[in-house]
Amino acid sequence: MKTVYTFVSSPNHVYPDHPERPARLDALEPKLRSFDAERIETKPATPEEIACVHHPKLVSALEKVCREQAPGIIDYAPTYVTRSSFEDALLAAGAVITCAREVLKGEAKSAFAIVRPPGHHAEPDRSMGFCIFNNVAIAARDALVRTGSGPSLQRVAIIDYDAHHGNGTQAAFLHDERVAFLSAHQYQPGFYPGTGWIEDAPHARKRIVNVPLPARAGDHVYEQAADRIFSPFVESFKPQMIFVSVGFDAHWNDPLTMLGLSTAGYLMLARKVIALADEYCHGRIVFVLEGGYDPINVANGAQAIFVAATGKVESDVNDPNPHEEPDCESRIEEIRKWHGF
Ligand SMILES: [Zn+2]
Repeated sequence: MKTVYTFVSSPNHVYPDHPERPARLDALEPKLRSFDAERIETKPATPEEIACVHHPKLVSALEKVCREQAPGIIDYAPTYVTRSSFEDALLAAGAVITCAREVLKGEAKSAFAIVRPPGHHAEPDRSMGFCIFNNVAIAARDALVRTGSGPSLQRVAIIDYDAHHGNGTQAAFLHDERVAFLSAHQYQPGFYPGTGWIEDAPHARKRIVNVPLPARAGDHVYEQAADRIFSPFVESFKPQMIFVSVGFDAHWNDPLTMLGLSTAGYLMLARKVIALADEYCHGRIVFVLEGGYDPINVANGAQAIFVAATGKVESDVNDPNPHEEPDCESRIEEIRKWHGF
């Protein structure tokens, strides 16, 4: 069955010298046609769909600030808005919903929502961390609550391997037992957003799983994490669909972070989460773009996802991490023990 994608580049959501910029997608866009995947059209999320996750007061305040005060900074990350940001954010969220519905309907096996602005830092009552609305959280909840033209689900899992903790997604589902959330991310004092320690959600062991990693953790550490934490996480929750918040800022030469994945590591991770979806979810998987601030890494990483999803194009990228990885054996064991995996 086919793989589909949406592409929302939001060219007018841009701010001087800000790393979350339209040019992030410039190296990827010309390659999209070569990926043996079908581009599908999308439409903006409705206020009701956004309200599945976000407080209506946040939605109206954002609309007002974009109309009346933009361009401007709305949080310390810094997160910016322009005149078009409200519509851009609705379209980004709508594109993830569209991808998820396509997979739910059985029209596609897998999908990749290539969108900006990103979403995983946005909490139910605040936009933050370059994120306006939490795109993946909105689509996950839509898959649970929707009625009408297709089936709804009882359980979905979100796996987030952007370099930063998916605090917004964690906040959205902290007390929603229909959604399991796993985030693997760089964690150290002063690193954004500061949440994502192992013990963040003691009431939700096995369901809210954080994999905090030291700087330079790369392909080997992530492979261990996937085999020994991602796998039992999915196996114990038995989701009917997997969403993946993928950020290419865990690449070793991302300008904002200090992790150590290579493009081969991103391919390995994509193959592993697809294998989990094949085993537990009839293959249903939706990748959602979060961060990644080097356009070449974004293009190579996205290609790796299409390679893993379609099996029909080859990955010719060879960009091994030149740095030595830390030993994370004890950290991984600590996480397994905390959750009883
Ligand atoms: Zn990030």
